[in-house]
Amino acid sequence: MQTITLLGSTGSIGISTLSVLADHHDQYKIFALTCHHRIEKLVQQCLAYKPRYAVVSDHAAAESFKQLTRSIQLDTELLVGPEALSFVASNEAVDIVMAAIVGAAGLDSTLAAIRAGKKILLANKETLVMAGDLVLTQLAHSSAQLLPVDSEHNGIFQCLPEHFLAGRLFPKKNNEANNHTKTSVHKIVLTASGGATRDLPLEQLAEVSAELACTHPNWSMGKKITVDSATMMNKALEIIEAYYLFGLPAEKLEVILHPQSIVHSMVYYTDGSALAQLGTPDMRTPIASALAWPDRISTQVTTLDLTHLPALSFSELDQKRYACLSLGYEALRIGGFAATVLNAANEVAVAAFLKQQIGFTDIYHLNEAMLKKIPSGQAHSIGDIKAVDQNTRERAQFWIERERLKKRIF
Ligand code: NAD
Ligand code: MG
Repeated sequence: MQTITLLGSTGSIGISTLSVLADHHDQYKIFALTCHHRIEKLVQQCLAYKPRYAVVSDHAAAESFKQLTRSIQLDTELLVGPEALSFVASNEAVDIVMAAIVGAAGLDSTLAAIRAGKKILLANKETLVMAGDLVLTQLAHSSAQLLPVDSEHNGIFQCLPEHFLAGRLFPKKNNEANNHTKTSVHKIVLTASGGATRDLPLEQLAEVSAELACTHPNWSMGKKITVDSATMMNKALEIIEAYYLFGLPAEKLEVILHPQSIVHSMVYYTDGSALAQLGTPDMRTPIASALAWPDRISTQVTTLDLTHLPALSFSELDQKRYACLSLGYEALRIGGFAATVLNAANEVAVAAFLKQQIGFTDIYHLNEAMLKKIPSGQAHSIGDIKAVDQNTRERAQFWIERERLKKRIF
């Protein structure tokens, strides 16, 4: 029996994870469930999965949890605040941590899980984007294993031989990374569906509403990643995520458009082979793959029937429509704090877009503007990362106020 902490249990990945676990309760037991503000959902989950702990973000959320459970017999202890997230992520009773909090809010608890040597299922890509070098350094000094859940990266993980990743994602399992294998990878290709704006005339992009941007053609996901898919910032973040996970230079990381989201990614080898990972677009597959690795467990995902699928198509990305993708490559080229800045700027931009404070194409303009001023030097500590993150958020907020003022004046 393995014990799991599920960080972000009320979100899209959290719910899919519980759906996978529901079929395997003889193998996995929930230790802790955590959420920000969707308390009713959390209470339902606690009743169904009976975790030892539930964690909420603040005292108002804790108060509503207590109200909702007043007349219920629940053997779950309620904890509050960010330190409690790290406590349940690093507790010695825990074997596996699903890191499925969205955004920078997931950083500390993921790091706590790494330091405590857990098997970490990483959905929270923002952690790697904002602090990739430090995450890898901490990983190298721990007995933790980092397994990608993002569908493209999970696909790549499945197409690479284990010894390619040894010494990097599970350092203590096998320190003998094989250099021959490193040079045998010609390139890695991530597919992109194109999101909600794929077929929209370019001149209508500036007018895209939050409602439209939050509708994904193939995947059902949280709001932030759905907007990121529409702008293609998601792929910009994923290029940086792949850079850290697989240790390949930016010129070996490619993105192509594949509207059907059936082929999630490909690894091209120098002998001419290209290995692809295919599947129905359903996150329960990569979640189950990471959870059971190196074994496999069953899921309720619809089996892929290639004979009844619409034709699969692939094409180059339209750089005008998806200008945000280039910012991911630009951040890697600049190095240092650039990815930290890009991630923070984008979190502020998406939140402002969802509140209708800025337009859809302003997300690109804001992110690009923030990338023009990167603090020099390297991060020596998480404190350095947080300072740059905070400073960028303030600059981004200032940019937004200035733009709104300009629009009011002219
Ligand atoms: P979501 O918005 O549906 O859920 C986010 C979860 O994090 C919720 O449980 C929420 O309560 C919690 N949370 C939010 N802010 C928090 C805070 N400040 N403190 C503590 N908890 C907080 O998001 P999601 O779509 O499930 O995505 C989660 C992560 O997985 C993201 O990093 C996303 O990029 C990544 N991811 C998601 C998918 C997908 O299909 N949804 C696919 C690949 C990667
Ligand atoms: Mg993805």
